[in-house]
Amino acid sequence: MDRKEKILKVLALLKKEFKGLKTEPGKSDPLDVLIATMLSQNTTDKTSYKAFVNLKERFKDWYEVMEAPYTKVRDAIKVCGLANPKARNIQRMLKELKKEHGKLSLNHIKKMGNDEIYEELTKYNGVGVKTVSCVLVFSLARDVFPVDTHVHRVSNRLSLAHSKTPEKTFEQLKDIVPEGNKLALHTLLIRFGRKICRAKNPLCNKCPLYDLCEFEEKEYYAGINKEIGVEPKENNFIILEHV
Ligand code: SF4
Repeated sequence: MDRKEKILKVLALLKKEFKGLKTEPGKSDPLDVLIATMLSQNTTDKTSYKAFVNLKERFKDWYEVMEAPYTKVRDAIKVCGLANPKARNIQRMLKELKKEHGKLSLNHIKKMGNDEIYEELTKYNGVGVKTVSCVLVFSLARDVFPVDTHVHRVSNRLSLAHSKTPEKTFEQLKDIVPEGNKLALHTLLIRFGRKICRAKNPLCNKCPLYDLCEFEEKEYYAGINKEIGVEPKENNFIILEHV
């Protein structure tokens, strides 16, 4: 089985595991998605969503966030951790955007190609390839494959990729995931990574992908978790489906 065939098999099995869950390509405002994704770095989607809602409720618009004292922005988002660098990066990005384009809007990227958008947005501090990929998928409905920590871990355990960083996993998979399947695979791998293929103590005994997996310790984890009887917990909340 080549990697493309394996990806399609993984997709089919995960769709069965997470029956009924659908992810539609987003049409949210690109600046909202960019800021929500910046907030979501190194934290859970639930806490970063709280921080995003705080910003929306405490400030009239992104202009007010840009002009507010830094401490007010930091306090509004402290629930999601790393509030100091996140507040600084968001305010700096807003100021640079306003200076360059005269307004706080990312509508100008809608006409750009994907490569141009990666170049345009990664120039801001705190905005990496994954963040831009999320804007492309969840705002512009482009067929790209964001790789976060869950997607990176699961892809490597399944030997879909062989890399040490999400950035390299993205490079290895971006042209291999069959067209039209990237958003579905992204969200399913996140849900699967949270529920079963967890970073610590994966529930290999409950895994629908067990036969496809090449993780060396899968037998060990299947054994101990069967013995202890750990049950998987659902966590289907993905911030960018709610922005
Ligand atoms: S067998 Fe274990 S490590 Fe492999 S994909 Fe399933 S949960 Fe993850």
